[in-house]
Amino acid sequence: MNDSPPRLLLVAACALVDSGGRVLIARRPDGKAQAGGWEFPGGKVEAGESPEQAVVRELREELGVEPCEQCLQPFAFASTTLEGGRWLLMPLFVCRRWDGFVDPKENQQIAWVRPERLSDYALLPADRPLAAELRDRLAGE
Ligand code: C5P
Repeated sequence: MNDSPPRLLLVAACALVDSGGRVLIARRPDGKAQAGGWEFPGGKVEAGESPEQAVVRELREELGVEPCEQCLQPFAFASTTLEGGRWLLMPLFVCRRWDGFVDPKENQQIAWVRPERLSDYALLPADRPLAAELRDRLAGE
């Protein structure tokens, strides 16, 4: 039996895009790993969950919004190394339709940002290349 923590962390994240084409990012609150960094909302995929289910749960818990699973468009993957020799693997979904109003539940700061301005924010390492890809792809719409 191996009691060491998993070396591969699967995290699912989501870019909420509003009708004006702005993207929601959130600042990780104090007390969380990488506090102060900006991220696409999301979190760890729990055992037995799909990435889509994890995104739906995390958006509900962190922001009080309810996207339908079918509205989650797979967008791209990011991977990076974390402290302790762990790997982070992170699919990003894009979602343009959800129920409810964004209401940060963890006192986290949020920002609705034009895709070309995402690079002005101190995004977490895994989120940076995804933000660049999002800027390029949303610009073509
Ligand atoms: O939010 P949670 O603490 O569950 O996320 C686990 C880890 O996933 C974070 O410590 C962070 O390293 C990473 N993460 C990320 N980008 C996101 C969401 C989480 O790099 N958008």
